[in-house]
Amino acid sequence: MKEVKSPKKPLIYYYVLVLAILFLFNMIVPSFLMRPQIDLVDYGTFMDMIDDQDIGQVEITDTEITFTNKDNTKIYQTGVMNDPTLTERLHDCGAVFASDVGEEGSPILSFLLSFVLPLAIFIGLGQYMNKKMMEQMGGKNAMSFGMGKSNARVYVQSSDGIRFDDVAGEDEAKENLAEIVDYLHNPKKYTDVGASMPKGVLLVGPPGTGKTMLAKAVAGEAGVPFFSISGSEFVEMFVGMGASKVRDLFKQAKEKAPCIVFIDEIDAIGKKRDGQFSTNDEREQTLNQLLTEMDGFEGNNGVIILAATNRPESLDPALTRPGRFDRRVPVELPDLAGREAILKVHAKKIKTASDVDFHTIARMAAGTSGAELANIINEAALRAVRAGRTTVCQADLEESIEVVIAGYQKKNAILSDQEKKVVAYHEIGHALVAAKQSHSAPVQKITIIPRTSGALGYTMQVEQNDKNLLTKEELEDKIATLTGGRAAEEVVFGQITTGASNDIEQATKLARAMITRYGMNEDFDMVAFETVTNQYLGGDTSLACSAETQQAIDQKVVALVKRQHAKARKILEDNREALDRLAQYLYEKETITGEEFMQLLAEGGAQQ
Ligand code: ADP
Repeated sequence: MKEVKSPKKPLIYYYVLVLAILFLFNMIVPSFLMRPQIDLVDYGTFMDMIDDQDIGQVEITDTEITFTNKDNTKIYQTGVMNDPTLTERLHDCGAVFASDVGEEGSPILSFLLSFVLPLAIFIGLGQYMNKKMMEQMGGKNAMSFGMGKSNARVYVQSSDGIRFDDVAGEDEAKENLAEIVDYLHNPKKYTDVGASMPKGVLLVGPPGTGKTMLAKAVAGEAGVPFFSISGSEFVEMFVGMGASKVRDLFKQAKEKAPCIVFIDEIDAIGKKRDGQFSTNDEREQTLNQLLTEMDGFEGNNGVIILAATNRPESLDPALTRPGRFDRRVPVELPDLAGREAILKVHAKKIKTASDVDFHTIARMAAGTSGAELANIINEAALRAVRAGRTTVCQADLEESIEVVIAGYQKKNAILSDQEKKVVAYHEIGHALVAAKQSHSAPVQKITIIPRTSGALGYTMQVEQNDKNLLTKEELEDKIATLTGGRAAEEVVFGQITTGASNDIEQATKLARAMITRYGMNEDFDMVAFETVTNQYLGGDTSLACSAETQQAIDQKVVALVKRQHAKARKILEDNREALDRLAQYLYEKETITGEEFMQLLAEGGAQQ
């Protein structure tokens, strides 16, 4: 979209202007006061002219002697010599001693030019700047220089604006917002029935899911101006400035109605006012002003406020009540079809080979956001360029998923032979346990090439389709698979390493969630002890139970993980031959695909 900003000149502009004027002034004034031509002559000429009695006026200073000829038509200048009789001789030759030889022009003019004119220019400039500032501030007191000015950027409709088609997936959100577009196109349809549009729509979802894009697309589809400001821009150092920015923003928006005002990260100002001493006065005032402004305009005046946040639970209830942000549009992480669509939208910008299968890539990229998918496409394009190719192939995209998930390959990481063997067994341990259980996702890829994220290897499992519900058995199998790496180390080497720390963390998290949130423990039945406090940002939880229960939870978590660990070890012991064979193969190859793995596993089974 084209951004149209008011032509606000920075202060530096005025400084440069003043300097330019001063410079010109210095150039021009001397030419106004220009002295007539002065000839420089030697002292001998001067003495000759005295002798010839050809001196009109003369002025002697410490360093120079300025004199005219008898007719005062020419001015000369010469240096000073130690000449005690000079004055006498000059007097004898009839010279007139003057103090302004060579000075011409009226003293009043020179006074005007050198003193009054610059003063007048400065006063004029000052007035002009003052006026400009008053205009910008909408007639506010000039003393509050630059304060309270909303810096909402105004975008106007343009042919290259973002449309709904550019936002892939997110069909429910688009459907929800389409009504607003329709209202902006044809408000009468709504007012005739007496329906009023929501004043505010809250877009909630994890970062990078396209909330900003959707807001822009609403403006693009409706062909109305789009004001965008981030919540944090309201919060200033001085109390009251944020509130005045809110006032200013709404004033601008009302002038441009119908229009869309987009407030990104609204939680920066809209946090719950909890009455604690540590609260931020400025933020509260800003929020109050926002609430007042939203109440202040009628539902049908054509200003629609869209706001985005990934922490909806922290918003003040006053902000989300009907009449303010009364509609909430969830913008969730894309599902399989959504991911595929997003990949295709972004792939339009790059050249892809014909073998690219976006469905597989979308399956591999489970749990990624739109922004991450855009990044995957870009990483793939960069990889193709690095390899000197002109099109992006499937391998580029698969590698770039791994880059986004696990970081770049560490080219110069040196693993000792023994370490490499341990990592190979560890990864095959995961894969084998996954493959031998009936509720695990198929293995897609196993690699023991170290990554910059610190992983020495990993096993990628990819679900055939998106999973919305997980059974207790599936979760237990997941925990068993996570413990499979460590179990393989125990079975084969009889000693354990630090390589399992991430697995341990994940297994514990899952086991804990099963007991405290999913009601998957007989003793606790359907009682929740933990609540998710931060749904879209990392999913932090808070525990609310007695100390005894906490102890019981811990014991149950340990027991659950132990059970699955034992199960994994049993699977590996029962399949020791396959474990050795596959680990050796991975050790040699470093990376194997899921198909290779399954084939090798099946071959072993056939031989037995
Ligand atoms: P948010 O505001 O939710 O954090 P943005 O709207 O700023 O996310 O999205 C960031 C980038 O991610 C966009 O510029 C776009 O390239 C990409 N993106 C996110 N979601 C989508 C989507 N649904 N379709 C296409 N691109 C998307």
